[in-house]
Amino acid sequence: MKHLETSTGKWEMVIGLEVHAQVISNGKLFSAASTKFGVAPNENVSFVDAAFPGVLPVLNSFCVDQAIKTGLGLNGTINHISHFDRKNYFYADLPQGYQISQYKHPIISGGHVDIEDKNGETRKIRLERIHLEQDAGKSIHDQSPTKSYIDLNRAGVALMEIVTMPDLRSAEEVSAFVKKLRSILRYLKTCDGNMEEGNLRVDVNVSVHRPGTEYGTRVEVKNVNSIKFIMAAIGFEVERQIEMLESGGVVGQETRLFDPSSGKTILMRSKEDAQDYRYFPEPDLPPLVIEQSRIAEIRKTIPELPDAKTARFQRELGLPHYDASLIASEMEIADYYEAALAHLPVENTEIAKILANWTLGELFSLLNKDGKNISESNVSPQNLAELITLIKTNVISGKIAKDVLKIMWDTGKSASVTVEENGLRQITSVDNIEICLRSVLAEYPDKVAEYKAGKEKLFGFFVGQAMKKTQGKANPQLLNDILKKLFNEG
Ligand code: ADP
Ligand code: MG
Repeated sequence: MKHLETSTGKWEMVIGLEVHAQVISNGKLFSAASTKFGVAPNENVSFVDAAFPGVLPVLNSFCVDQAIKTGLGLNGTINHISHFDRKNYFYADLPQGYQISQYKHPIISGGHVDIEDKNGETRKIRLERIHLEQDAGKSIHDQSPTKSYIDLNRAGVALMEIVTMPDLRSAEEVSAFVKKLRSILRYLKTCDGNMEEGNLRVDVNVSVHRPGTEYGTRVEVKNVNSIKFIMAAIGFEVERQIEMLESGGVVGQETRLFDPSSGKTILMRSKEDAQDYRYFPEPDLPPLVIEQSRIAEIRKTIPELPDAKTARFQRELGLPHYDASLIASEMEIADYYEAALAHLPVENTEIAKILANWTLGELFSLLNKDGKNISESNVSPQNLAELITLIKTNVISGKIAKDVLKIMWDTGKSASVTVEENGLRQITSVDNIEICLRSVLAEYPDKVAEYKAGKEKLFGFFVGQAMKKTQGKANPQLLNDILKKLFNEG
């Protein structure tokens, strides 16, 4: 990306997001039709979703509960009264000819998501609002050369539009924000955060200005569906806008699309203003009234969220921030980790760190290899804990433990059974190790002579040979100590 500091001075980028998060709910926002993903086209369509004449929307109160929960989890204010409005568009895949949304009076106001900037400092990214609205259907253009098809399965599905203030200042911050937001939504179980299926879509508003001056005109890049593309779209836009301004042009307020194949954004339309949508109050729905008691009930269902969990892991277990935040990023990882920890002496912070290393290192690489998530792990938390106990009690070495874990992964057997069945117990008998070393030295008299003449790096060679003879099972510390002793003896 072009540098923000050019020959004409410094530029700063300003970014605000509008995130569309699909609400986890079996039913749609105003109808009882199913929201199941992956069914045949138009299978999940009620008369309401297809906008038949005379039908009336009925608000799904579970979706409202989900929005309240999201608002609480994101530190927002739940408005006791909010309103639904019609936002008019004319698209083939929007049979009503309007979207029921919330305009001036959203269900949630304010809130914030905390991220870390590049210096590790906490940055509060303020939210402007969260409102409820319906999703549209989908036009399908690639099935026939002459016809377009419409799939209304998604029409009427509940979305939460989460709008940030223009508080973000780099593509990296945006990436951290989206990851954190997704993590919180997944903890709350209000949105699954699946960007590939389009359940979390981001409109990225980008502008540039000289630091200390008014913000520039923003360009909105619509519906970007991966973090990688979001970052690429920002990079391209910032460069395009700086070039335009430096060559004396002006940035127009417009809506653009990101094209992943070229890495560029393409003009879609010059931006409409709110008045173009001809917003007006939805006459078929009364104001949405939310009682304090309902909010209080929902508040009780909010789990410990990632930031609080990260802080607790650092405070109580002495984990470094990096490990703590990775483990806390997904509830399933944190649950697995804590379940394993329950089988280990927690007062020992060294063990908490070793368990973190094994979870994030070896276990993750096995999970990735098989494309599994941690709740589908072949190795149970208890079995991983037992493996660590075997390392700590010197039954096996850390090196052999990696092989043990691989066998456990393939067989589903416990650590101790795996060690016994495969004869992988560490050799800790001083006598046995000494016998082994003596035979190595006897095998390589020339090398022994070289070593004694000063070629000290041969020490590792002898260790390696002895390890080979014991299939890696000799206790490394004892092996080193005994070899030194043998050489000292002459
Ligand atoms: P609209 O309703 O017309 O889309 P909003 O004021 O709601 O306009 O802004 C939409 C998004 O644009 C918000 O996420 C906000 O943070 C962001 N935004 C507003 N001004 C700027 C700016 N100058 N540069 C970048 N983003 C901006
Ligand atoms: Mg907006």
